[in-house]
Amino acid sequence: MEALRRADKLLLVNKEVDPKFELAGVMQSVERLGKASFFKKIKGSAFNVVNNILGSREMLAILFATTPERVVNEWVERTTKIIEPKLVSSGPVKEVTKKGTQVDLRDLPIATHSSKDPGPYITAGIVVAKDPDTGIRNVSINRLHYREKSKLGIRMLRTQHLGQIYEKYEKRGKPMEIAVAIGNHPFEVLAAATTVAYGIDEFTISSALRREPLELAKCETVSLEVPAMAEVVLEGEVPPEVREPEGPFGDFMQFYNPIPADQSPVIYVKAISHRKDPIYQSIQPSHLEDMHLLALPREARVYEAVSKVAEVKAVCLVPMIFACAISIQKHFEGEPKNVAAAAFGTYPWLKYCVVVDHDVNVFDVNDVWWAMATRSNPKAGLLLIENGRGFPRDPFHIHQSKVGIDATAPLNQWEHFERKEIPGAASIRLEDYL
Ligand code: MN
Repeated sequence: MEALRRADKLLLVNKEVDPKFELAGVMQSVERLGKASFFKKIKGSAFNVVNNILGSREMLAILFATTPERVVNEWVERTTKIIEPKLVSSGPVKEVTKKGTQVDLRDLPIATHSSKDPGPYITAGIVVAKDPDTGIRNVSINRLHYREKSKLGIRMLRTQHLGQIYEKYEKRGKPMEIAVAIGNHPFEVLAAATTVAYGIDEFTISSALRREPLELAKCETVSLEVPAMAEVVLEGEVPPEVREPEGPFGDFMQFYNPIPADQSPVIYVKAISHRKDPIYQSIQPSHLEDMHLLALPREARVYEAVSKVAEVKAVCLVPMIFACAISIQKHFEGEPKNVAAAAFGTYPWLKYCVVVDHDVNVFDVNDVWWAMATRSNPKAGLLLIENGRGFPRDPFHIHQSKVGIDATAPLNQWEHFERKEIPGAASIRLEDYL
């Protein structure tokens, strides 16, 4: 937040805001200015709220101390060597601790985001649990529905690690211990959103991204560890064989999901600890922060795969992670189709892949659209894959077709496709002229 403030990318919201819809509305307005928001007064809560700290490539560049173009390369380089987190005796998250009947989730400024959501949802909670056989930690982000003062609904799918861990506890008739950290350093949020193999502790990824061990503190009532520097931590249990209706909730695709509501497990919260002046993080589903968070680890995966078949400049999965733009330094005709095929092969959720020349900015959809409109020859440039695999919840996911588009200029006609430019324009400082 301090780094964003220094870069003039943090906007302070002083007026009191209602966590039901108004908070989401103001967060959206600030997001559209390309800034993060910090809310000083939330109706009914003493907590501050922060939103959209990962809402642009520029913000990610500040986080990784690099240029916007190099963020993906930084991710790839930093995650090649995994680092173990380390245990510390305590941390700021322990400044205030409440247990048992003292727990009241209504203290938190939990936002209700979209018109048909069934209630307030915690959206930036990093969920920690352990495999009962191996004791290996799993870290994920799961949507958490506020139900009662010490009860949350939690969506856990059997296709995801946390759902598989819960299944193991449930088969033994035992509750699953759980901890939820809210208000984390972005590296923990990014690591929790990454898809890695089962049995890899996502905190080793966040430590690698930090280039130093993440400091963890022991929980008070469960045998789990959480980031010592977090703002808020909830501790609790997910009992076996308990299901209650959860959803539909406006999610990352901008759709309400699932319809009708699923029967989902619940968390009984036994303890809450937080800093003295806590900041609660909120992430708006489907908004720019959510998209950058989901995109970056997948961009890294696509970048690594397509780099094996061509000289790749940049990969972008924003604004929607089912569509990809890739820029390359083309050396041979046909390369763009190989690049698109490699992207589809490594990342099954992808539906569209547009391959553009090195001089096109893939982080600007306008520029990508320009390249499609001017440098592609639709029929010749089309790669169509039928009956592929897609995102499981995409209504079209069975027999999903995928389209790659070669939007690169023919090498032997480059002079007809070269972009015009204004000499000296890049070095002009407008403030010198006003
Ligand atoms: Mn995992």
